[in-house]
Amino acid sequence: MKIRVIDITEKEKLLESSDDVSLYPTLQEAQLAGECTFTSPLAVSLSLVREYGHIRLNGRVTVSVDLSCSRCLADFSKDLSSTFTIYYTQAAETSAEEDEVELGESDLVAAFYSGDEIDFSDEIAQQVLLELPYKPLCSEGCKGLCPVCGVDMNSVACSCNSTNKSLAFSPLQGFKVKN
Ligand SMILES: [Zn+2]
Ligand SMILES: [Zn+2]
Repeated sequence: MKIRVIDITEKEKLLESSDDVSLYPTLQEAQLAGECTFTSPLAVSLSLVREYGHIRLNGRVTVSVDLSCSRCLADFSKDLSSTFTIYYTQAAETSAEEDEVELGESDLVAAFYSGDEIDFSDEIAQQVLLELPYKPLCSEGCKGLCPVCGVDMNSVACSCNSTNKSLAFSPLQGFKVKN
């Protein structure tokens, strides 16, 4: 998603779009790497305003993904949503060497633009990637796979589990404190 710099004024400008994931190379890479499968277009809404020496972007991006649970390996769907604020400064006006500077809070980013247009695609993609869980869980209480027989312990109660338990606790069974 791009906009001409001269079209951004002190009057807030709102942009809405529904973008195919193929427009975002870094998201496609994540998908190809097997991190997730995007199951909807990216719903992007941006508000842009020129203020002081910078352009302030308030954005929100929402997308649905399929993820694999890191415990039970089952696929599940999740809606990712991120709201963020990015301050764009013209590159020539700064001496910073970094492309992007984190301003402490993770949802507050300073970025630079040069030329007549600002392309927001990289920042939008970055926000989506930040929402991807490092270790996806189908539910907080997912029991995972049995380490012995490999069944999904969320749906099957195998007998190894209880055997494991009785092994783990057997030294304590019958243990009595003598006065
Ligand atoms: Zn799970
Ligand atoms: Zn088992």
